[in-house]
Amino acid sequence: MEKFLLKNIENPNSADVNEYVKAGGYKNLSKALDMQPKDILEEVKKAGLRGRGGAGFPTGMKWSFAVADPKFPKYLLCNADEGEPGTFKDRPILEKNPHLLIEGMAISGYTLGSEYGYIYLRGEYPYAKDVLNKAIQQAYEKNYLGDNILGKGKRFHLAVYQGAGAYICGEETALIESIEGRKGQPRNKPPFPVNAGAWSMPTIVNNVETLSNLPYVLEIGGEAYSKIGSKDCPGPKLFSVSGCVEKPGVYELPMGTSLKDIIYKHAGGTRNGKKLKAVIPGGISTPVLPAENIDCAMDFVAMQKAGSMLGSGAVIVMDESVCMVKVTYRALKFFEHESCGKCVPCREGTEWLRKVLHRIENGQGREGDIELLTDVTWIMSGKTFCPLGDGAAGVVTGMLKYFRNEFEEHIKNGSCKFVS
Ligand code: SF4
Repeated sequence: MEKFLLKNIENPNSADVNEYVKAGGYKNLSKALDMQPKDILEEVKKAGLRGRGGAGFPTGMKWSFAVADPKFPKYLLCNADEGEPGTFKDRPILEKNPHLLIEGMAISGYTLGSEYGYIYLRGEYPYAKDVLNKAIQQAYEKNYLGDNILGKGKRFHLAVYQGAGAYICGEETALIESIEGRKGQPRNKPPFPVNAGAWSMPTIVNNVETLSNLPYVLEIGGEAYSKIGSKDCPGPKLFSVSGCVEKPGVYELPMGTSLKDIIYKHAGGTRNGKKLKAVIPGGISTPVLPAENIDCAMDFVAMQKAGSMLGSGAVIVMDESVCMVKVTYRALKFFEHESCGKCVPCREGTEWLRKVLHRIENGQGREGDIELLTDVTWIMSGKTFCPLGDGAAGVVTGMLKYFRNEFEEHIKNGSCKFVS
């Protein structure tokens, strides 16, 4: 498949506006401004574009709710807070193709009737901040942003807002709280952000990759876009592949490419030819799949049928030398640290899970510890305020489902045969 999201990123000056324009950049913004916003919205719906941040909600439908709301101003927020372990798929766009995102946001702003956009950038991406700020300045100078874009009388302003490094700010309402200057904690829903988001006004929050798809939808048209990859979730998709593979990295492939092909055809297979043990397919919060279950399509629907989730498309590969108890402990250490503390099942649950896993991992596991882990995950599942708690519980549940023997071995023998 011809690359679009990562087009020209091998060019060392790919982030420069002149290079972007030379490669055909900003022509889709010009095209968009000659169209009616309702016609662009129709193209997005026809394309079948679904959010790339993890939830997979149909973008056209989400936009329709905000368009239908007469309140003004409306805000467009780009979620660039990719903080989940294993996820680094937005980074090449932010650092090497920032004008694609800017063009996508300007098109989206015009479609939604929004004149103000913010890129909410994760705290740990200082280089991306500099690249984005420079690109935004260039876009203003060339009249791709501002009060009279390309002399066509349309207005869109854009700025970067850098978070303080909290994973929970990837949740859209926590992101809004943060951008308003408060502690990043999720809000009650409803009201949903599309009707009452930033500063209580209609607000659309979309992921970097989602917004960067807009120029492509307009370039080839919604219908042609809908024929790329999976029927249910079409379009190009970025997959970040890490762990025990020969060629870790970010791959742009059609949505629905098989997980097996991503690992073996594109990422070079397991490192040193070791036997594959398991894969976490969509970032650390998505349930693990054992090696025998990886022959499945990477899209929102197929991954759910396979017993996991597409999530952000962050593929973490583990070979036969990896200790799954250690992986589970490290994951829970992360979730405990990132729990915002707003609700009890998550705040207390992640701490208990981490404590019990720590003693199992360190050879001090007790009889009954597996049952205790199961109890705590049951108390958390479906009872937390936001998906972070569910994700944390799901990691433990998934690992116990497929690799319970390793936990039992740790408790019985005080260690295991795996070296990782
Ligand atoms: Fe905060 Fe965790 Fe509750 Fe989400 S589930 S609101 S992160 S305490």
